[in-house]
Amino acid sequence: MTNAVPTVKLLINGEFVESKTTQWRDVVNPATQEVLARVPFATAEEMNAAVAAASEAFKTWRKTPIGVRARIFLKYQQLIRENIKELAAILTAEQGKTLPDAEGDVFRGLEVVEHAANIGTLQMGELANNVATGVDTYTLLQPLGVCAGITPFNFPAMIPLWMFPMAIACGNTFVLKPSEQDPMVTMRLVELALEAGIPKGVLNVIHGGVDAVNLLCDHPDIKAVSFVGSTKVGTHVYNRASLNGKRAQCMMGAKNHCIVLPDANKQQTLNNLLGASFGAAGQRCMALPVVILVGEAQKWLPELVEKARALKVNAGHEAGTDVGPVVSCSALDRINGLIAKGVEEGATLVLDGRNPTVPGYEKGNFVGPTIFTDVTPQMSIYQEEIFGPVLGVMNAANLDEAIAIINANPNGNGTALFTSSGAAARRFQEDIDVGQVGINVPIPVPVPLFSFSGSRASKLGDLGPYGKQVILFYTQTKTVTERWFEDDETGVLNTTITLK
Ligand code: NAD
Repeated sequence: MTNAVPTVKLLINGEFVESKTTQWRDVVNPATQEVLARVPFATAEEMNAAVAAASEAFKTWRKTPIGVRARIFLKYQQLIRENIKELAAILTAEQGKTLPDAEGDVFRGLEVVEHAANIGTLQMGELANNVATGVDTYTLLQPLGVCAGITPFNFPAMIPLWMFPMAIACGNTFVLKPSEQDPMVTMRLVELALEAGIPKGVLNVIHGGVDAVNLLCDHPDIKAVSFVGSTKVGTHVYNRASLNGKRAQCMMGAKNHCIVLPDANKQQTLNNLLGASFGAAGQRCMALPVVILVGEAQKWLPELVEKARALKVNAGHEAGTDVGPVVSCSALDRINGLIAKGVEEGATLVLDGRNPTVPGYEKGNFVGPTIFTDVTPQMSIYQEEIFGPVLGVMNAANLDEAIAIINANPNGNGTALFTSSGAAARRFQEDIDVGQVGINVPIPVPVPLFSFSGSRASKLGDLGPYGKQVILFYTQTKTVTERWFEDDETGVLNTTITLK
C-alpha cells in the first residue's frame, strides 16, 4: 500500500483501529476512478473482538436511563445537521450521486435520528388494570443484546441510520458492516455518533464482504440482524440468521411500476417520472424502472423521451447535474449488457443512453437516461433489477389491466399511480399488492413516524426498519402479571394502608 491513500478504520470498543488484514479493496470515485481510500476485509479475530466489545457494553447500556439515551440522539441530530454539507460531499465522491441527492440521503437518515430521540414514548409498554381481581398485567419492551446491520452501497448515509440509532436507543449494542463500495460517509457518521456521546463498545464497525456477513449471521452473541441489499444476498442472510435462531429483517431488491392514467396532470406526472426513473442514476430501491401508460396517456411518450434526452449527465459534484455516474465499472458493464439484451430480445430502444460524452470525466461510469418500449414480462430487462437509469414502458387499456401486470410481478417494494380521479386512486390503493403506495407521489418512502413496508419478494421478516415496527424488532416483549397480597391473612383488603 502507498502511504498517500488513507485507510478506512474499524471501530472496536470505542477505538478507530487499523486492520491487520492482508486483504484490502479500493474505494473509487465513480466519476474519475480516483482511489479515495482502501477498505479492509477485517480478520476473524477483529470481527470477534467487535462482537465481544458489544456484548460487554450491553451489560451496562441496557440499563441506561431513557433520558440519557434520548439526549445522545438529540445531540447526534444536531451534529449531523451541522456537518451535512461535508457528509454530502464525501458521499458524492465515493458513490457518485449528485450533491442535492447526497444531502437528501443524509437528511432521510437524520429524520430517523430525530425519531430515535423520542425513544421515551416509543418504547413504552402497556398496562391493563384488574385483569382479575387485584391483578394487573403490563408489558416491558426490553433490549435484545448485540444487534447487527449490513448495508448496501446505494444509500450509505440513510440506511446505516435506519439501523444503529433505533437499535441503540432501545438499549441494544450494535455491530455495523457498511457496504465495502462506499464506507467513508458511513464512517464519518459513526465518528459523529461517538462525538454525540455513544459510549465505547455500544457501536462497533467491521468491514468486509461475504465472510463478515456470514460471521454476523452465525455468531451466537448476536441476537438480531437487519439487512438491506439485493434479493439474492438478503435471502441468504435471512435463512442463515434465522436458522441460527436470530431475528432477521431483510429489505431487498425491487422492480417498481407506476401507472399513468390519461386524467393525470401531464407536466407534473412527466417531471415526477423523470426524477423517479433517472434520478440517482436509477440506483434507488424505490426508483420507478417501469411505467404503464393507460389509454390516451400513451400519446405522452414522445414528450417523456424528449424530456429524458435533455437531462444532464455529469459528475455528481458539478452544478446542474441530473444523472451522475453509476457506482462501479462492473455496475456499468452489467447495465450496458442488459440494455444490449433488451434490444436482442425485441424491445424497442427509443432512447439509448449508452456511452455518453462527459467532458472532463472520460473515465467515469456514465450511462444516460435510456427508454425501452414494447417491453414484455418475459424479457430480461423486465425480470431483472437493472439498477441503472433505464425505463421500460408498457401499455395497458385500463386501470384493471395495469394493476394485474403489477400484481403478477413478484416484487412488492413500491408503486405509484398518477391520476386526478379519487375513485381510481381508491381502487388502486385497495387492490394493489405492493407494500408502499404513492398516489401522485413517485417515490413513497415513508417518513420515520411510519415504517418502511416493502412486501412480497422485496422483504423477508415481519417487521420493517424504523418507525414503530422497529421498536418491536429490536426489543423482546416481556409480559408481567402481578398481584400483591395484603398483610391481613383473611385476604380482606386493608384500605387503611399508609405510605411511609
Ligand atoms: P448487495 O446485496 O450486493 O450488498 C449488500 C450487502 O451485502 C453489502 O454490505 C455487501 O458487502 C454484502 N454482500 C454482497 N455480496 C454478498 C455475498 N455474496 N454474501 C454475503 N454478503 C454479501 O447490494 P448492493 O448492490 O450494495 O445494493 C443494491 C441492492 O440493494 C438492490 O438490489 C436494491 O434494490 C437493494 N436495496 C433495497 C432496499 C430496500 O429497502 N428494499 C434499499 C436499498 C437497496
